[in-house]
Amino acid sequence: MIPQKTVQEIIDTAKIEEVVGDFVNLKRAGSNLKGLCPFHNEKTPSFVVSPAKNLCKCFGCGKGGDPVRFIMNHENMDFPGAIRYLGERYNIVIEEVEMTNEQRKERQKRDSLFILNQYASDYFAKELLETDEGKSVGLSYFKERGFREEIIKHFQLGYTSKQKDSFTLQATQDSHSLELLKKLGLTTKYGSDFYRERVMFPIRNLSGKIIGFGGRILQKGAKAAKYINSPESEIYNKSKVLY
Ligand SMILES: [Zn+2]
Repeated sequence: MIPQKTVQEIIDTAKIEEVVGDFVNLKRAGSNLKGLCPFHNEKTPSFVVSPAKNLCKCFGCGKGGDPVRFIMNHENMDFPGAIRYLGERYNIVIEEVEMTNEQRKERQKRDSLFILNQYASDYFAKELLETDEGKSVGLSYFKERGFREEIIKHFQLGYTSKQKDSFTLQATQDSHSLELLKKLGLTTKYGSDFYRERVMFPIRNLSGKIIGFGGRILQKGAKAAKYINSPESEIYNKSKVLY
């Protein structure tokens, strides 16, 4: 395990123009830098790097983020992998520490929640892209709003059907625990689906793992709240996540 202090040091040291510059030929454009996007094919540069914000963003395909996120996407690494990569890039020595048993148990518990959220996200994405209801209600909404298919897939947007408990039933059939489904707010205390007839936006933490969902209702004049978010959980602390 990489000590939090070292993770922070690496995050504070990594400069976006240098990290991106290792892979992309960047040219000055005012206070920013610009280059050809390494994530999609293009002939005119739409990949913008802002040294002041320490962020990059492609205005064509939407990919980008801070140095850690860039390395995760570009090198196909997880969060610790990207931190190790940047540690080496900046000659910051990482002294790995052994996890205690308690930390290991805590980690396992959190991992099972992340796995369940990822399962839910996959399910919602499939509902959006592969069912008649999802296509006619959810997908047409996103397309009206100018979301291209690439973006929809990249952000793993989804849809939840009208049915009362189709998601919960499928999840428990796939051996996911009802207790955890309730803990994450995916299932109500009565056992029905928490999100129904909504387009779904996964909310991610810095390392890209799904910690919760935002769901927007599309039906006009519906009595339910227009927008609902997952309740707080062990992995979702609203005050710590910008959404
Ligand atoms: Zn791009």
